[in-house]
Amino acid sequence: MTVPTIALNDGTTIPQLGFGVFKVDPDETERIVTDALEVGYRHIDTAAIYGNEVGVGRAIEKSGIPRDELFITTKLWNSDQGTQSAFDAIDLSLEKLGLDSVNLYLIHWPRPDLDKYLETWLALEQIKADGKTASIGVSNFHVEHLEKVIAGSSTVPAVDQIELHPGLAQKEIRDFAASKGIHIESWGPLGQGKYDLFGMGPVADAAAAHGATPAQVVIRWHLQNGLIVFPKSNSRERVAENFDVFGFELTAAEVAAIDGLDAGMRMGSNPVKDFF
Ligand code: NAD
Repeated sequence: MTVPTIALNDGTTIPQLGFGVFKVDPDETERIVTDALEVGYRHIDTAAIYGNEVGVGRAIEKSGIPRDELFITTKLWNSDQGTQSAFDAIDLSLEKLGLDSVNLYLIHWPRPDLDKYLETWLALEQIKADGKTASIGVSNFHVEHLEKVIAGSSTVPAVDQIELHPGLAQKEIRDFAASKGIHIESWGPLGQGKYDLFGMGPVADAAAAHGATPAQVVIRWHLQNGLIVFPKSNSRERVAENFDVFGFELTAAEVAAIDGLDAGMRMGSNPVKDFF
């Protein structure tokens, strides 16, 4: 199965479909990521706060897959915002992952109340210059946060990873990002199982029409919208199901019908209101 790649604004490429490990138990991470790599995933999305970088690193090492065939993302946690703390945070993440560099390093949340995300972004530019990551990006940034880092630095983020699923289509951020060459990564792409996305008419109808599962339809919706996506599951069966999405294509009408489900249904934290 060949996963399409997307060219990022810094000349690197990213597999459009990956595997995310939020809330994957650290003790189970090595097994679950091993499953994902065996299924064929080559793009893994983790974060320092997930506490499972060691397990991701062990699975990578055990797999024997050449490093240049893998795309690994990790993220800088809120308490590490700042210059020296960012330098220390990437070193600790690389040590836990057992890697010399990651492919993509993200600021996990803007935390505008701290007023340190621009300083942190400048530190990420240095981390990239030092060869510790190939690309740098952000997560949970709204338009005003993107504008501030673009105006205050010489690097446009390669990606913005935001909560995005049919009920929360994030058109404003997507339109702004597209105008700046920033690619969007969808987190919680299946709505984190927190609302009945799979039972909604346009999703259920497309699944029946293509002999696919609702989860596969939603993943196709992300892919056909040009979004980068990494659904998570602890079950090997679902991990395989979520990867088996290249044998069918949604029609333009089906994509449009699913686009129509957008209703501002935020399932996770609000980046400008919920601070932790
Ligand atoms: P998700 O939308 O991928 O939902 C995961 C849940 O969906 C699973 O727990 C499972 O219950 C269900 N599921 C998965 N496959 C299924 C299938 N085939 N059929 C039925 N149900 C299925 O949510 P997520 O894990 O929160 O998001 C994906 C990834 O995004 C994370 O693992 C993480 O890497 C990233 N993420 C980033 C942030 C951020 O702040 N940057 C926040 C949350 C998640």
